[in-house]
Amino acid sequence: MSLIPADSSLRQPAFSPPRCPHRGFPIASLPGLLLAIVLVSVLATPARAIWPFDGLFRRPPLEERATKLLSEAIRTRTVNPPGNERGLARKLAAHLRRAGIEHEVIPTPGPEDGPARAAVWGRLRARATGSDQDGAGARPALILLSHLDTVPALPSEWSVDPFAGRVWDSFVWGRGALDAKGVTVAHLLTLIAFAESDEKPDRDLIFLATPDEETGGELGAGWIVRHHPELFEGAGYLLTEGGGIQPASDIEGGRPPVWGVTLTEKAPCWLELRAHGQAGHSSTPTRDAAVPRLIAALDRIRRAESAIHVTDEVGRMFAALAPLAPEWDRAGFADLSRALREDDAFRRRFLDNPGQNALVRNTVSITVLEGAPKTNIAPAVARAQLDARLLPGESCEEFAASIARLVDDDAIEIEQILAFPARASSADTPLYRAIERVAGSRSPAGLVVPRMIGGFTDAHWFRELGIVAYGFVPRALPRQEGRRVHGIDERVSIATLVESIELSRQIVLALDAVEREEAKRGD
Ligand SMILES: [Zn+2]
Repeated sequence: MSLIPADSSLRQPAFSPPRCPHRGFPIASLPGLLLAIVLVSVLATPARAIWPFDGLFRRPPLEERATKLLSEAIRTRTVNPPGNERGLARKLAAHLRRAGIEHEVIPTPGPEDGPARAAVWGRLRARATGSDQDGAGARPALILLSHLDTVPALPSEWSVDPFAGRVWDSFVWGRGALDAKGVTVAHLLTLIAFAESDEKPDRDLIFLATPDEETGGELGAGWIVRHHPELFEGAGYLLTEGGGIQPASDIEGGRPPVWGVTLTEKAPCWLELRAHGQAGHSSTPTRDAAVPRLIAALDRIRRAESAIHVTDEVGRMFAALAPLAPEWDRAGFADLSRALREDDAFRRRFLDNPGQNALVRNTVSITVLEGAPKTNIAPAVARAQLDARLLPGESCEEFAASIARLVDDDAIEIEQILAFPARASSADTPLYRAIERVAGSRSPAGLVVPRMIGGFTDAHWFRELGIVAYGFVPRALPRQEGRRVHGIDERVSIATLVESIELSRQIVLALDAVEREEAKRGD
């Protein structure tokens, strides 16, 4: 029985012959196949086992460990809700223990009688320094942050079981492979690799994988930051999801790779509107019925256009992207604020792209709607929820007040259901320069671009503490792979997984080097 429906192009890698996905044998003659695999494996340098013969050819240890660990993490189901992350937290803690790294499983709150929730934390101490002559010893610690929970997956839609952690075609498949168990594994193995080698960083490295990110982080990173600030003592930097490497192949005209480092995110300002009206039998409508009132209010909100505002971060982001823009947009990207003000054609083109539009203004999406439970009832209350995303520096209170003025109806109350301020981290830091240095050594023509994203991650909890927090996972993800996040057939290539560990290690070392040089120069 094939698990691969014939109607889906996504579900079967274009380059592979028809397979029985349970065993991975191409449908061909077995002796010929064995010979071919042996030949390919012998000729390939470096030697790399081809599934399903993992056991026959020795993989480099890091590759094998990363693959096994990610596969195990995917098998340990942590779909949120309800999360149930404690089992995975314990398994990861066991790896930290074996490597001799200080660690802790931190129980976090959940509903009574609900699943056990927890975060896992580890701290690899900086190399011991006898003196401070090269500036080492008291460098700010670097937190590597990820999350243990995942969004759900519907097995019937997938080509493989999303919770089996299958290794197939040089990929690890399953829910969380990219978001974010693959990040957790890369961070964990970065610490372990340093612990096992003689080469220790100048600073403490803090590993943290939290529960509850996918439903807002209030009971995960938010709770931990409030209740266990001691875990982050001395921390000055943080890297987490929200940015990464766009490989060269993804960009028109064979342009160089782009390393997108997210400095800030738009802030959610989620509002509930409740319209009150005359309840009764809907056979005799009244003027002030709740549902039509609500619809009229939503119509005003839908038609309203928010002002365009190019923040410093967004201006810098597009200026950095200008060399990659189509020729006719290059000047506009280079001075976005001016072009949006003065060039009508450019403004239309730019705002037509929903992703770009969302970066230069506050946006509102009308999402939840609730009226009567039955056709012939006029309810006393009708309810709607708005997902508004605000630019850094804007306040949700002021935004809610502007919505109230727009709605202009005393029978409609507006309540904030989720809001936190957007904060930005500077790009003028040794960590940013360390990322630039590693990017430059990898691909001299590559670009490092400071970014703002429309969504939000757990980074904001740490920016609120004054920690320089970047959304950046050093992993090259072609666009078609990135689309699988929260979608069908999420997977990560083993090569990408291993590269993200190596690049994380290089960034840690580059950060040491940059800080030492800057301390010497007296910057
Ligand atoms: Zn995530």
